[in-house]
Amino acid sequence: MQTSFRVRTRSRTQFIDITGEVQSAVDGLGVEDGSVLVYVPHTTAAVTINESADPDVARDIDAKLSALVPKSGDYRHSEGNSDGHVKSTLVGCSETILVDGGRLVLGTWQGVFFCEFDGPRTRTVLVGTP
Ligand code: ZN
Repeated sequence: MQTSFRVRTRSRTQFIDITGEVQSAVDGLGVEDGSVLVYVPHTTAAVTINESADPDVARDIDAKLSALVPKSGDYRHSEGNSDGHVKSTLVGCSETILVDGGRLVLGTWQGVFFCEFDGPRTRTVLVGTP
């Protein structure tokens, strides 16, 4: 059982809070108790959970990843987006989130973020029961 939604990114790298969209997907799937898998079927994007209260946190993570994995470097991949591929692998393409009473179980400060590393593009996020 799965569903999906689209995310439109606006810059080359961007963290977008998709907590509301994931909760809507859980609602649509009718998951009451258990868990859902949030999965990003892309090789230059990722999904992560981190603080959503202060947008500077996502900004700082994005900036630090770009410092750790610069756009130019000793890359062989000719498409010019090797940094995006490396970041995607570092952050990961899925998160499993518990669901209790139909609600995502997240800490007070936690949110689910779509991570764009080679935008702007229109992306897909899958939400399903594992
Ligand atoms: Zn590539």
